[in-house]
Amino acid sequence: MKTRSPIVSVLGHVDHGKTTLLDHIRGSTIASKEAGGITQHIGATEIPMDVISSICGGFLEKMNIQEQLPGLFFIDTPGHEAFTTLRKRGGSLADLAILIMDVTEGFKPQTYEALNILKSSKTPFVVAANKIDKIPGWNSTKGECFSKAVQNQHKNVVFDLDQKIYEIVGTLHEEGFESERFDRVSNFASQITIVPISAYTGEGLPELLTMLLGLAYQYLNEQLQIEEDAPASGTVLEVKEEKGLGLTIDTILYDGVLNKDDRIMMLTKENKVISTKIRSLLKPKPLEEIRESKTMFEDTNQIVAAAGVKIVAPHVDDVVSGSPLKVANDDNIRVEDELLSEVDNIRIQTNDIGI
Ligand code: GDP
Repeated sequence: MKTRSPIVSVLGHVDHGKTTLLDHIRGSTIASKEAGGITQHIGATEIPMDVISSICGGFLEKMNIQEQLPGLFFIDTPGHEAFTTLRKRGGSLADLAILIMDVTEGFKPQTYEALNILKSSKTPFVVAANKIDKIPGWNSTKGECFSKAVQNQHKNVVFDLDQKIYEIVGTLHEEGFESERFDRVSNFASQITIVPISAYTGEGLPELLTMLLGLAYQYLNEQLQIEEDAPASGTVLEVKEEKGLGLTIDTILYDGVLNKDDRIMMLTKENKVISTKIRSLLKPKPLEEIRESKTMFEDTNQIVAAAGVKIVAPHVDDVVSGSPLKVANDDNIRVEDELLSEVDNIRIQTNDIGI
């Protein structure tokens, strides 16, 4: 058994800062002097724990969070088609989520949609109230924690921010969630935490990442224990044409191991099971090598969860993004049943919440 990193997705309305937040987290990682650095996956980036704790500063200790996880595994492509498919199917791609919104605009149509995805998939999440630097009069300090940054503000600016936070609290209440600004939460089990941040200046990121880890410790213990030599399970992120390779399947693996000669099963839009044999497994090349060789990927024989991998295999035209993926080397009937029962469970869930 090993503990894998929690898979995290960032959801929210267009232009509310998903990409900027992901870039900032990656950027501070690259800039960090800590050992290790990031691991680039297909469709995802893994930030090691030593880097996360260096961003979080003393907050992890303050919250009594031990650093037992290998890191956080961020899905790179926000607003992805797989999420929409999963929304219709009621499934889930991530263990944890950040619901991001522009604090000056509050809830917008895609914020509600994202919230519904999280509600139906029961994914634990924190709210990032982004763009606090846009509040008139806000005095920014790059990379500062929110708790200190807020002390540098005029009281009218703090009041303005609070008004906006309470609008978010009000809307979340209407949507069935109790919530509070993170430093006023009295019960982490029943209240959603809202962290004011600026993805632009990095203010509030220490607290945001600390709250995410807090959720991981609260909700994910068993889910993150995986068997390294068990046949892999994953979720298809995207089926796409790749120059010189044909159709490829970008997949996030959340359990087990995937080998180059494995047979895999996935679902089509019509929920038919497709079985195919892997031709090659690809992962991104290190940046320096991409520049020289002009190809983005390199072959690998084996890949262990959590990981993002590009699979080259025949007969994958009808595979739907958001489909579960399972290895089926020996007991095909059992795996087929498992895939179909996932769809059944999803249908039942979907009916329950009236989508
Ligand atoms: P996405 O569509 O959710 O991925 O949004 P982007 O990350 O592309 O951000 C949309 C715009 O908002 C870009 O021009 C960003 O520079 C800007 N932006 C994002 N976060 C912040 C922030 O914290 N403060 C300010 N002032 N602008 C931001």
